[in-house]
Amino acid sequence: MTMLSEKMQNALNAQINAEMWSAYLYLSMSMAAADKGLKGVANWFAIQFKEEQDHAQIFINYLLSRGGRVKLAPIAEVETEWDSPLAMFEQTLSHEKKVTSLIHNLCNLAAEEKDVATANRMVWFVDEQVEEEESARDIIDELKLVGGDKLGLYMIDKELAARVYNTPSPLATAE
Ligand code: MG
Repeated sequence: MTMLSEKMQNALNAQINAEMWSAYLYLSMSMAAADKGLKGVANWFAIQFKEEQDHAQIFINYLLSRGGRVKLAPIAEVETEWDSPLAMFEQTLSHEKKVTSLIHNLCNLAAEEKDVATANRMVWFVDEQVEEEESARDIIDELKLVGGDKLGLYMIDKELAARVYNTPSPLATAE
């Protein structure tokens, strides 16, 4: 029997779905970028796709560790075309801001329910969201700086090609 409230279990399951939808969104962006020959942008979003699946896995592991019930809901459809890399990163930033507010809601619910374990698990996600928003914002700034300059975009694409995947610490330390 789990100590997690029904409300908390529902919120955590909704978060799993939100993270999987994020994964879907970034996979779609990765393919759209690859289609335009932007290998670096495609790489950046392919790594983002993996990280979002990791986020979902961390929530799944947590729910299971607390004796909760995981319920995988359908993943809603995502867009498949964007006008420019800038449009992709602007949507990324606005989407991550939404995810940040969902994470904060989970923190507030945990505090409300005096669920210290969940509150503690959320700390990593709070920090992660700061990073998510910051990295999207940095890339938006760079893209705006080069504007329509093709060479500038080429350089940014090269830079994004260098991004490598790292297993997030909550999964790396799990046995
Ligand atoms: Mg996420």
